[in-house]
Amino acid sequence: MSIQFGPDYVRAIAPYQGGKPIAEVAREFGLDEARIVKLASNENPLGMPDSSKQAMLAAMADLARYPDSNGFELKAAISKKFGVPADCITLGNGSNDILELAAHALVQPGQAVVYSQYSFAVYPLATQAVGGRAIVVPAVNFGHDLAAMAAAITPDTRLVFVANPNNPTGTFIDAAEIEAFIRAVPAHVVIVLDEAYTEYLNPQQRYDSLAWVSQYPNLLVSRSMSKAYGLAGLRIGFGIAQPALTDLLNRIRQPFNVNSLAQAAAIAALHDTAFLARSAQVNAEGYQQLTTAFDAMGIEYLPSSGNFVLIRVGTDDGAGARVNLALLKQGVIVRPVGNYGLPQWLRISIGLPAENAAFLAALKNALA
Ligand SMILES: *Cc1c(COP(=O)(O)O)cnc(C)c1O
Repeated sequence: MSIQFGPDYVRAIAPYQGGKPIAEVAREFGLDEARIVKLASNENPLGMPDSSKQAMLAAMADLARYPDSNGFELKAAISKKFGVPADCITLGNGSNDILELAAHALVQPGQAVVYSQYSFAVYPLATQAVGGRAIVVPAVNFGHDLAAMAAAITPDTRLVFVANPNNPTGTFIDAAEIEAFIRAVPAHVVIVLDEAYTEYLNPQQRYDSLAWVSQYPNLLVSRSMSKAYGLAGLRIGFGIAQPALTDLLNRIRQPFNVNSLAQAAAIAALHDTAFLARSAQVNAEGYQQLTTAFDAMGIEYLPSSGNFVLIRVGTDDGAGARVNLALLKQGVIVRPVGNYGLPQWLRISIGLPAENAAFLAALKNALA
């Protein structure tokens, strides 16, 4: 009999399934990489900001040195832009790192973590990695049922994840509802408010979660620079919480979790308000382009506040995989969401106008 390494709860983890890489699809389907359209990972279709590229080129000169472990300049830039003290900031290797740090710092094996059905795939992963017990609360209209989530909290619950907007459904919860939820959650439970897509919210939806941080010691707001800031490949995100919680997260953080190039690029991107505005603009226009076509084609979709749209491509549970394959054969990569329990749906990241058009043409073929 062979030895089984590690705890049962680690062996039980199903690996994260990301968007298929362009090179892999080109190889598998015999396609030209240059003609493949990837709308699968909620990446920024504008690419990275030029300002970040320039900052990275300058930072290249110093790559024999370790990064600044405390990210002094990057924290100063975050501090200035968002009006939060530096001792409230945790830097992460992507905001994924922040989610994991929270689970590792707060949850012991057997303790509970609450999150919603149809919410971000990393919440179960982070929970299982520490032997936590997941309490998955059924969604309402594909979004968070915050009242049920508050009611689901047990004495041994240590963490609650809330994504706003949510991935993969794009659903949005308004400020009043979130703040009422934060007030309803017991003080010993930390709420991670995951705002990876907050930069795409329209002016009516916007709210100031960072102001809540100074009021609620158990709130951790998580932000990503992978989406609207266009830096997914560099892995950079950050968490904002009061100093006591921030200190805890920083104790278990890898000393050099954010590399020098990422720090330099992030500082430039935070200053590049023109790029951020253009990202939001291109996204809003792409959303119109896609949803207008979906309406014309009679395709059901969920109204989305993010940079992606979830569409229903059939009424049988093979539909998502079938239409996904038909799209791949035409060189269009989107995201099947069967692993989220949504086998009739596909998630489409919003691209540039020509990419959206190529996807729509391929979708029409696939459904014909
Ligand atoms: C994309 C995403 C993240 C993490 O992105 P990073 O690249 O790790 O910053 C976090 N939460 C949600 C809901 C996401 O969709």
